[in-house]
Amino acid sequence: MNGNGTNHTDGNPETVIVGAGLVGAVTACYLAPRFGTVTLLEKRADPRLEPPPERRSLVVMLSARGWRALSDLGVADAVRRICVPLHGRCGHLSDGRTRLTPYSRDGQPIWAVERRRLHQILLDAAEATPGVRIRFGQRVRSVDLDEPAVLVEDRHGSRRLTCRRVLGCDGAHSAVRAALEARGARVEVRKLDLAYQEIDVPAGRLDPGVTHFWPAGKAMFAAHPLPSGKLSGSLFMRLGGPAPSYAAARGGQDLSEMFAAHFPEPTAIIPDIAEQLATKAVSTLTTVRCDRWVWRDTFALLGDSCHAMAPFMGQGMNCGFEDARVLVACLDASADWAAGLAAYEKSRTEDADAISRLSYRHYFTMANPPREETSADVLRGRLTVLFPDRFVPLYERCAFSEESYASVLRDDRRLDRLVADLLARYGTGLVSAPDDRLRACTPPPTPTTATLEDSGCS
Ligand SMILES: Cc1cc2nc3c(=O)[nH]c(=O)nc-3n(C[C@H](O)[C@H](O)[C@H](O)COP(=O)(O)OP(=O)(O)OC[C@H]3O[C@@H](n4cnc5c(N)ncnc54)[C@H](O)[C@@H]3O)c2cc1C
Repeated sequence: MNGNGTNHTDGNPETVIVGAGLVGAVTACYLAPRFGTVTLLEKRADPRLEPPPERRSLVVMLSARGWRALSDLGVADAVRRICVPLHGRCGHLSDGRTRLTPYSRDGQPIWAVERRRLHQILLDAAEATPGVRIRFGQRVRSVDLDEPAVLVEDRHGSRRLTCRRVLGCDGAHSAVRAALEARGARVEVRKLDLAYQEIDVPAGRLDPGVTHFWPAGKAMFAAHPLPSGKLSGSLFMRLGGPAPSYAAARGGQDLSEMFAAHFPEPTAIIPDIAEQLATKAVSTLTTVRCDRWVWRDTFALLGDSCHAMAPFMGQGMNCGFEDARVLVACLDASADWAAGLAAYEKSRTEDADAISRLSYRHYFTMANPPREETSADVLRGRLTVLFPDRFVPLYERCAFSEESYASVLRDDRRLDRLVADLLARYGTGLVSAPDDRLRACTPPPTPTTATLEDSGCS
């Protein structure tokens, strides 16, 4: 049962996981059956017993990487029962048109789930896993990487808990990450100039099979269908600068007037929008980049603690679940924890950077869609139809495959260059050229060496 020789359930655990959020719970389920007892320390109260005062309805999107972990842990069916399948995103443009972009070319959906309900299932699964113990109301103040141990505070005071290793799953504002920084890791924590408010959207006026979004340049409203038929909306708006912004609202401009000016359709659909805007919490978005994720054989970071990202590709949690799966795979394949942790860090950091970049970039694409598709966009689209296996749309590769995010980003840049080269060489007329000509003009798939000359097309 245990890669390191003990299988006790009392006393000091083999592994302490700091943070029983989504990623901490998944990591515990993966780890305990193979590597011994796990104690999850969570600073908050058990959300299954004491739901937070403001019932937040944040919806997260599950895609291939997330499902892989949920299947491994045997909870995929339970989670699917509380999900809504979504087949695309519908942009409601300012001129009244709508533009539907399917998430995949073969009709596969991504799945919307309330984060609160998913969390409950994962906590139940962790608690049902032999060797896992969850302790709520336990705030970890610091980590000793050498001993190793954590300093924990609860309502009775503080104590030191020793263990064989510590995993940090304590989110973007991680306290335990400081231990790595003290050993020279470079950590970049960035508060984005973008905040959001969760807004309830009533059922009945919007297609419940797709995500909806209203781009407004410097702001965006998005709405994700829930199983009840209602939608969970999010207003994304800049923190600073002139209207529309939260700074303008603080400076005296009426938030609901600002909203109505930029989002007339949602204003008409949500009768109590003014009240919601006045009372719902404004949350900020933080990104985290960290060049070291592990320390020898005693410490590793997973999830938002090492790669919090903007939410616009819907991959933060999916990527965190993949961290847990890859960590255990690396440990299984390595002779010892030091080698396993090193392999984990090597295989994840570049990927996390890539999806983080893509996620931030995607906000600007969604908030500022071009009025008409550019020639480059049309050409890209045609190439993905003509060569369906070779040119897979970027979103589709991130959401429906488990390919390395970094290689997805590299291929996307290559495709950008190819499209630019084709347009430079053949002009915009190529965009509407017959399939045969476009096929002949496209160089063969040896991207590092192929040039347009290789295509034999002149
Ligand atoms: C608006 C929005 C939309 C999103 N949409 C998506 C989406 O569609 N798809 C997707 O994949 N991801 C999405 N995400 C990202 C996703 O929510 C996060 O990536 C995910 O929740 C990270 O999980 P985590 O467990 O690493 O961190 P967290 O969820 O932050 O959990 C950390 C846990 O650690 C605990 N903790 C913190 N400090 C301590 C301490 N010192 N001691 C003990 N416990 C501690 C916290 O209380 C918390 O329970 C979205 C995020 C936002 C903000």
